[in-house]
Amino acid sequence: MERALIKIHGIVQGVGFRPFIHRLVREHDLKGFIKNTSSGVELELDGEREVLERFVSEIPSRAPGLAVIENIETEYGLECGRFENFEIRSSKREAFRNTLISPDICICDDCLREMLTPGDRRYRYPFINCTNCGPRFTIIKDIPYDRAKTSMSDFPMCPACNAEYHDIENRRYHAQPDACPVCGPHVFFMDGEGRACANGDDAIAIARSLLRKGSIIAVKGLGGMHLACRADVEAVARLLRKRKQRDEKPFAVMCRNVECARILCEVSPEEAAVLEGIRRPIVLLRKRKEYEETLRHLSENRCLGVMLPYTPLHVLLFGDDIDALVMTSANLSDTPILYQNEEAVRALHGIADGFLLHNRDIQTRCDDSLCSVLDGREYFLRRSRGYVPQPVRISKRDDLPSVLACGAEQKASFCLTRGGHAFLSQHIGDLKNFETLSFYRNQISHFRRLFDIVPQRIVCDLHPDYLSTETAREMSEEQHIPLLQVQHHHAHLASCMADNALTGEVIGLTWDGTGLGTDGTIWGGECLIGGFETFRRFGSVLPIPLIGGDRAVKEIDRVAFALRHAASCKNDDENASHYEAMLASGVNCPLSSGMGRLFDGAAALLGIKKSAGYEGQGAVLLEAAADEAEDGCFPIEWLEENNTLFFDWRAMVAAMEQRAGAGESTAVLSACFMNTLVRMAEQQCRRARECSGLNRVVLSGGSFQNLYLMKRLPVLLREDGFEVYHQKRVSCNDEGLSLGQAAIALHRLGKETNVSGSTT
Ligand SMILES: [Zn+2]
Ligand SMILES: [Zn+2]
Repeated sequence: MERALIKIHGIVQGVGFRPFIHRLVREHDLKGFIKNTSSGVELELDGEREVLERFVSEIPSRAPGLAVIENIETEYGLECGRFENFEIRSSKREAFRNTLISPDICICDDCLREMLTPGDRRYRYPFINCTNCGPRFTIIKDIPYDRAKTSMSDFPMCPACNAEYHDIENRRYHAQPDACPVCGPHVFFMDGEGRACANGDDAIAIARSLLRKGSIIAVKGLGGMHLACRADVEAVARLLRKRKQRDEKPFAVMCRNVECARILCEVSPEEAAVLEGIRRPIVLLRKRKEYEETLRHLSENRCLGVMLPYTPLHVLLFGDDIDALVMTSANLSDTPILYQNEEAVRALHGIADGFLLHNRDIQTRCDDSLCSVLDGREYFLRRSRGYVPQPVRISKRDDLPSVLACGAEQKASFCLTRGGHAFLSQHIGDLKNFETLSFYRNQISHFRRLFDIVPQRIVCDLHPDYLSTETAREMSEEQHIPLLQVQHHHAHLASCMADNALTGEVIGLTWDGTGLGTDGTIWGGECLIGGFETFRRFGSVLPIPLIGGDRAVKEIDRVAFALRHAASCKNDDENASHYEAMLASGVNCPLSSGMGRLFDGAAALLGIKKSAGYEGQGAVLLEAAADEAEDGCFPIEWLEENNTLFFDWRAMVAAMEQRAGAGESTAVLSACFMNTLVRMAEQQCRRARECSGLNRVVLSGGSFQNLYLMKRLPVLLREDGFEVYHQKRVSCNDEGLSLGQAAIALHRLGKETNVSGSTT
């Protein structure tokens, strides 16, 4: 008999971990205690060495789904008396400082079974949950995380729920949002005019029948409202587009289960695992060949965003006969997602034919997450519901100072650090919209309070006009916190490094639409060499004049015009003389090295799209048009200037024009265009390696949402002996930028305070 001290670090509080340990201890007949500590839990146990070791070895594989175990330290042979029993010691002074809050998690199998079992006291109850599932982040008003500080404060527990809550043997032990039909929230239906029509099961029945008949229904979810309608009737989806004024952006679809998703899309085992996982993001799936055309009313490209039901209400809504519904965020042109009952009824008047709502308030908006599946795991385009506010660990050290990183502007996010944890915000949106900006500012305060963080540095982009920069500056002045500005693509590079726990220096391919460079021009097709400390611009893309500035971002045929012009190809645009005069004088033609612009220009040049309905549409459609079997390439030329190696695309453009003129297919030419970029990048990296001796390449920036590139470029680089890294835990687009800003600031602070500068 001996005693073991076991320290478990990670997300192990508020996720049903102590009841789990309680069960495991009983199974192994051990005695002792467990208590919460600032970084996890601590156990002291008496038992035979062999039994204790077995106990420890079983913890990781059997831990509850929401627990994240970072590491377990075990010490045997402690001096001891004898424990008489096993107890859970409560530490009254548990520091809130280190509380971690779980994301919102989809209904678990146990709750699902109960909900569908006649006679269960929660039979068909749409708010069933337990410690392993249900709402968390979206219902929390404040810390400490207990019922009184959540949306559930309005619903005192009935005796039956209360008994479960206090029973360590019960799955609902300390489940703050626990409820039942007697004591909990309820669902109701309102017609298009906001008149209450029905409650409970009748409300769900009405919504189901209206949906089947082709109506558009607003449905209250976890982090906001969705607009739902049949996915299989083109006219209905078109009507929704018309009412929502969403002409071209793809709709996400919720399918009843994976089998229903397989009817529409190809689903690999890895994709099925992410779809069916506890976080339930929207997963971009390849449409089945036979449906590529017929599903165009949902998505104009080759993929369709699919998710599975994640709340009990969704499950009841689908029943066993609705296979797929369009489920799009209910918001009006670029404003944040609607999340309150009254405002939704008001704002969606004339858009929704009815409302399936409930009286459990959403405290915090949180949009659905969106990802592809790459190398067997999520590759984020939007990291939000189901993931936020789970921190990304960027350092093993817990004594680091805190920083606030304010992100970019269009795909805004922010990041607060505490010790080695980085807390990234949910999807915020485009700050140029006023309501989005106030949402962003509110969330910064909310996160600071929730995680009790006082930043010692505020970091923002170099761009003086970004509203995130303005916010950062204001906060810095008001609160007397020093400000640090970080170049956009340097932050992308650092984001990918922090994401992959890299230190030192790397070659960074950072490709996106726009970011302000250190020389005052617009960058975006960058090959950088550097690390957290500093960077230099090794290579880029020959700057493209944007005719009319920002107008060229929407009217992408202007970019095509500029490309043809530079490559001395014939331009027959009705505005040709006007554009040529602008190009000649350079007036209102800012230069951009943005990779996104090169994609736009190529898309317009190949006749795929003349004008972009949403950001990145040119690139998305070009990717969708490409013949994946084609491995041809256009000529690659270089131009060296100011110690920077520019990809000179003029020869490529001339070849593309010539072959398009000769009648070659858009499919082949689109593929050749992207193949050219892949080989160009490889050559650029090779030169950077010769120059720097570096062998690691990080890929970051919105252009790498393109899976055609992501399936080819890393392969080619690896064949060439490079180690290649892409973003894994945060988005590769500007949403992931705040992580890089934070990592750079931490490095800087570490050096100033003379602690080792490493952030890993
Ligand atoms: Zn559950
Ligand atoms: Zn109850």
